[in-house]
Amino acid sequence: MTEEQPDEEALARAGEILKAGGLVAFPTETVYGLGGNALDPQASMKIYRAKGRPSDNPLIVHIADMESLPEIAREIPEQARLLAQKCWPGPLTMIFPKTDIVPPETTGGLDSVAVRFPGHRTARALIRAGGGFVAAPSANTSGRPSPTTAEHVEEDLGDAVDMIIDGGEVGIGIESTIVDFTEPVPVILRPGYISLEMLGEILGEIRMDPGLLREDSPVRPKAPGMKYRHYAPRAELSIVEGPTEAVVAEIRKRARTAEQKGKCVGIIATDETCGRYDCGIVKNIGSREQEETIAHHLYGVLREFDCSQVSEIYSEAFYTPKLGQAIMNRLLKAAGHKIIKVEDEENDSIGK
Ligand code: AMP
Ligand code: MG
Repeated sequence: MTEEQPDEEALARAGEILKAGGLVAFPTETVYGLGGNALDPQASMKIYRAKGRPSDNPLIVHIADMESLPEIAREIPEQARLLAQKCWPGPLTMIFPKTDIVPPETTGGLDSVAVRFPGHRTARALIRAGGGFVAAPSANTSGRPSPTTAEHVEEDLGDAVDMIIDGGEVGIGIESTIVDFTEPVPVILRPGYISLEMLGEILGEIRMDPGLLREDSPVRPKAPGMKYRHYAPRAELSIVEGPTEAVVAEIRKRARTAEQKGKCVGIIATDETCGRYDCGIVKNIGSREQEETIAHHLYGVLREFDCSQVSEIYSEAFYTPKLGQAIMNRLLKAAGHKIIKVEDEENDSIGK
């Protein structure tokens, strides 16, 4: 079904499944979610089991109207209301102290709850049909790239889910920005489509979780999920960083050397560079001029490589102006932070 043409009968059935404690995968504007009734501890536990997700990694509770927020969030600061006015419904998750109706199974034992009011109409219709509070992590097996199509969900979860609502390919392609409002100054726990710059314009003061800034940071990320190696493709992925010419030359050299040894190599390039590679399996992730296209294709490209025979993948870096932080956060995790830095005299840096 599409957002414009909902299948009312299917949505009603999905709502019944959720109310009975079952699981429904559904499209949102960010990635596909694996939904269960957020107020039912058994349903939350089913979600963890289906994904193979560590039980200390809390779930995001999805709502379909602002009136639902105070039912699950105990303190809602003025700043959060302002942000909700500007960015909800949309790809933003906010964290608040939780009320007693939210079971600890849903929040990984924490006293706080993550809440999102999605912009996708099918998602909102499902949330309403299911009783108003749907816990939904990304609908992938834990550790795999997040799903951006219903086929990805089927690939990963198949029988573990009672129903998959196919709404076609999602729009954004990377997960929501998470902002923590349980601290005196709001903190970004996960970068996403809503950028630091946009948040700064709305909120004034905002911080980045220090645990996210460096891989070897002595501080652990506050969002438990950010400490795991996520989004990993099966092949060894390395990111090559530096000026454009040097990056292209380095990837070409490495791909050729690997092919001479009989290995199959994957290359992640852009509109601007993909014609420059003459060996390996080259995937065009999008255009640096339209950075949303890179976010949109990121997980799909990583999954496509999983279906091929490649044993190593080299990706250019994508430090684009707005979404670069969110894209590189995912790509660096997928690569287990393996970065190859190259330099040359020229100044046209890739992604910098
Ligand atoms: P996913 O559901 O796969 O998009 O991941 C949700 C992310 O939100 C994970 O990184 C969680 O650790 C994080 N999260 C959810 N609830 C909380 C919370 N109450 N406090 C901090 N992080 C949270
Ligand atoms: Mg996830």
